[in-house]
Amino acid sequence: MTDCLFCRILKGEIPASIIYEDDHVVAFNDINPQAPLHALVVPRRHIASLNDLTPEDDALVGEMIRRAAALAKERGYADRGFRTVFNTNAEAGQTVFHIHLHVLGGRRFTWPPG
Ligand code: 5GP
Ligand code: ZN
Repeated sequence: MTDCLFCRILKGEIPASIIYEDDHVVAFNDINPQAPLHALVVPRRHIASLNDLTPEDDALVGEMIRRAAALAKERGYADRGFRTVFNTNAEAGQTVFHIHLHVLGGRRFTWPPG
């Protein structure tokens, strides 16, 4: 997807602060962080939203979630707690249509979310 912001970041066309990468997933710091740790875990393959997932993506989504937990642990937030979020479509506030798992840590979060 040439017009997808995150595909462009993954191709290196737009700079990002990359904190992890492997063959399947990349993680980079959010440009507008909402907590001391606010990273986005993104699959290399373009998938627009959770509505587009198929059973073939199950392992990939598992890798994304485990990577988010590993990043939180690296920063010392595993025991304190951290938040993971997938926003899907308009009412949830999805603005980039390439799935990404937000991982936030380092402060107390409220529930229910805003
Ligand atoms: P969404 O609202 O779709 O769940 O999350 C999109 C996230 O991408 C937002 O938290 C936003 O700050 C972040 N974002 C938007 N543009 C860029 C960018 O160019 N670089 C980085 N690193 N993050 C971005
Ligand atoms: Zn994309």
